[in-house]
Amino acid sequence: KKSSLGETKIAVLGMAGVGKSALCVRFLTKRFIGEYDQASENKYKCATTLEGESVTFELLDTRSNNDDMGVRDDVVRWADGFVLVYSVTSRQTFEVLAEVRRRLEDMKKVNHVPVILLGNKADLAHVRQVTQDEGARLAAELSCSFMEVSASEDVTKRLG
Ligand code: GDP
Ligand code: MG
Repeated sequence: KKSSLGETKIAVLGMAGVGKSALCVRFLTKRFIGEYDQASENKYKCATTLEGESVTFELLDTRSNNDDMGVRDDVVRWADGFVLVYSVTSRQTFEVLAEVRRRLEDMKKVNHVPVILLGNKADLAHVRQVTQDEGARLAAELSCSFMEVSASEDVTKRLG
């Protein structure tokens, strides 16, 4: 399936509770919103600028359970790329992602499935279970890029 950047489809995967929905809502509204439908699976049309060009893409916030992490046939077939999310406060949510990546490679039948790794809830330093180094090491194993983020904090403010 070939698609231009303008119609790229991205699915957000990871265990329940890692903050997939909060991150999507934050990305779309620039706000942390506690009140949203926790159970639903939402597909969004997004527009942003990339290297000075405006691009559109579709974003699927999967409704994952802790058996499938959102990795379902229909989702994997639909998406061109994947955001793998764990919570830095839960080692289990981190450890399952190597298996998620393996499943994606098996199901997608292409040499390199584009993924990015996000360690969410970086604001909860006092209950952290996964270090930033461990995140970076997993990203190196998966040959993908990696960022620690927080859906609840305005990161641009912190950097600025
Ligand atoms: P999902 O099941 O992966 O979609 O997770 P949700 O987006 O529903 O988030 C699960 C819970 O974690 C909710 O109570 C969120 O408010 C909370 N949460 C999500 N992201 C963050 C974050 O970055 N920091 C903190 N402190 N809480 C978060
Ligand atoms: Mg959700």
